[in-house]
Amino acid sequence: MSAELWARAERLRAEIREFCRTTLPSDILHKSSQHLMLTKEEYVRWMRSLQSRGWGVGHWPREYGGLAWSALERFVFEDELGRAGCPWVIPFGVKYVGPVIYTFGTEQQKRRFLAPIVSTDEWWAQGYSEPGAGSDLAGLRTAAERDGDYYIVNGQKCWTTYAQWADWMFCLVRTSRDERAQNGISFLLIDLRSPGVVVNPVRTMDMCHHVNEVWLDNVRVPVENRVGEEGGGWKLAKFLLVNERTYGSGVGESCFALGRLKALAAEMSCGVRSLGEHAAFRRRIDELELRVLVLETVSYQVLTDMLSGREAGAEASMLKIRASEVYQDLIEATVDALGYAGVAYDPQTLHGEGPPLLGPSDAGGILHYHLYNRAATIYGGSTEIQRNIIAKSVLGLPS
Ligand SMILES: Cc1cc2nc3c(=O)[nH]c(=O)nc-3n(C[C@H](O)[C@H](O)[C@H](O)COP(=O)(O)OP(=O)(O)OC[C@H]3O[C@@H](n4cnc5c(N)ncnc54)[C@H](O)[C@@H]3O)c2cc1C
Repeated sequence: MSAELWARAERLRAEIREFCRTTLPSDILHKSSQHLMLTKEEYVRWMRSLQSRGWGVGHWPREYGGLAWSALERFVFEDELGRAGCPWVIPFGVKYVGPVIYTFGTEQQKRRFLAPIVSTDEWWAQGYSEPGAGSDLAGLRTAAERDGDYYIVNGQKCWTTYAQWADWMFCLVRTSRDERAQNGISFLLIDLRSPGVVVNPVRTMDMCHHVNEVWLDNVRVPVENRVGEEGGGWKLAKFLLVNERTYGSGVGESCFALGRLKALAAEMSCGVRSLGEHAAFRRRIDELELRVLVLETVSYQVLTDMLSGREAGAEASMLKIRASEVYQDLIEATVDALGYAGVAYDPQTLHGEGPPLLGPSDAGGILHYHLYNRAATIYGGSTEIQRNIIAKSVLGLPS
């Protein structure tokens, strides 16, 4: 890593710290650091506050409004936000479909879609998974049949995060059944206000509404909303998945969670001593801290490789497994540290209405967060699938 690159990233780190202290809307930081549910309006305000510095699309090329960040700056950005307890950067527009459109889209698609992604005037959802097509994505069955200048789309998507708020959904559809499964897939941009689209809520085990099923019944989608060639969607789908997996090591969030856990261990009493003074709990925290340090070290190794032009393959899978597991364990330890207060659950408090039933002020959101986080080892490619990728790479088998 060159000294200049490092210095630039450290300048960005200082600016982000300053921004989190002085500019970031405090109501939003308060809710996210206590794991409460943000509304769409709050997420939009959050994304726009990042974009007021150009950071929402800092990793985009300058010609499309970005800051042409290096992989290191991109990492530092997410790392610092995580360390401050900020909400996640909603990825569907800025990280997922935006780069697909500026890399593979037509000039008309770039003019139409990129600006509202930058300004968060349009909210996007990801329409990849279907019943029977999650890990085995190429098994998807949602069909798009050509009718003149339109595709007629029929099928069902599932687990579609925040589709209840979305204006558009980028969607993998099957445009041909005659060939190898991957070859018959196309990448469509679907206006979710089109007739024939129905979005139904699905409650996850925290009893909250994060995900949906999206039904598509004879939905007419203009052919001009297809990105890339007909039947060429698999290449775009994979491009997007690499972006999804490579930058998600979540070191910052883990550091924030670790800090909170240590503070709680000092705060909560257990018998005549604080919880942190008990050897067994102390050891649990120490082990977690070591795992976070290892995650951070490996993240920088992967970044160094990426900066010297090597693609993150099996290493990205290793980071995905380690990051999601350590984070789940940190939140589980926090629930344990809170004792009774950790399991008192009132969905109303998640929306910031009223104090938690029991315990410190951030106890109200923790159980919901713990339960929802079980999904971290499933979405973005489940742990078993990541292990398959690592095994194939180690054994030199075709991927
Ligand atoms: C909270 C949440 C939000 C999500 N948001 C979105 C979204 O916005 N858009 C979207 O498109 N999708 C979304 N997903 C879907 C997610 O990508 C899929 O759940 C994931 O890809 C797994 O697919 P599946 O659920 O169909 O499970 P399956 O693929 O049926 O897998 C079931 C189990 O079998 C294991 N398994 C499967 N194949 C293999 C294999 N070859 N070897 C070993 N083990 C295997 C898996 O690891 C898993 O444990 C979301 C999921 C969750 C839980």
